[in-house]
Amino acid sequence: MPLVSSKEWLIKAQKEKFGIGAFNADNMEFVEAIIEVAEEEKAPVIIQVSQGAIKYAGLEMATAIVKAAAELASVPVVLHLDHGTDYLQNVRCLRAGFSSLMFDGSALNFEDNVKMTAKITEMSHACNIPVEAELGKVLQIGDNNSAETIEKAMTQPDEAVRFVELTKIDSLAVAIGSVHAMKDRTAKLDIARLKKIQSLISIPLVLHGSSGVDPESIKEGIANGLCKINVATQLSVSFVKAIGEMYNKNPAEKDMRKILLPGKNAVKDRVREYMGYFGCKGKGIIAGAKSGIVASEIKHHE
Ligand SMILES: [Zn+2]
Repeated sequence: MPLVSSKEWLIKAQKEKFGIGAFNADNMEFVEAIIEVAEEEKAPVIIQVSQGAIKYAGLEMATAIVKAAAELASVPVVLHLDHGTDYLQNVRCLRAGFSSLMFDGSALNFEDNVKMTAKITEMSHACNIPVEAELGKVLQIGDNNSAETIEKAMTQPDEAVRFVELTKIDSLAVAIGSVHAMKDRTAKLDIARLKKIQSLISIPLVLHGSSGVDPESIKEGIANGLCKINVATQLSVSFVKAIGEMYNKNPAEKDMRKILLPGKNAVKDRVREYMGYFGCKGKGIIAGAKSGIVASEIKHHE
């Protein structure tokens, strides 16, 4: 089916207290892996394209791959811009056919973040496409990540109320203790802060940096208002590890498909595991929708 907007699906997730997986895709194998699992589990899914992925694949190619895969799926697929950098990039992604946008103004001061986010929301809403924005800052591995720095960068509940009112965004990425690009799942979310934010604002909340968060803490977060859960690093690490192992076992292999397929399958395993934590299985059934997805296989080199 054609791409769907994230708006209705995040509201459904909010009402029914489940999380929608927002998985970053860097190439065709990632897109296939994510959508095949969504299909198997009958789950709605968000495919995210990051700045790095846009540079790597090109915006047109990245969009075309996700659109083609979504068309074959019977479950709802959203194409989302992850950490949009500026106004013009959001315009380009809207025109390319993204069904969900993000502006990350977390490096700006409050007033400038409001100003730019509101400008993007006004433009995007004219085409009925929802916008996510970030308040507070989810830090990166490599930043100064002392407990004190992470806490200082967290979303302030009272500011969040003003931010949502002034920008008219559709979902809010909150900084509540996760850090981008962590490989170990050791971070715990500040659930008390999340509860406070959820009690004050009505739109769905988004977790970034979920790869580094203890899955039990993610589940608690979903029970307390998180509706979109972003996962990138865990997928990438699984892919690289699997293709490395396959190559090491078969260094004379000439057929690259035989090296890449274990990578894709490793991504599938991870997506399936995360969907189990999110409670989204069976939430993407659409009456009458049929799947045209054929899982990859390798018979011989042709
Ligand atoms: Zn992020």
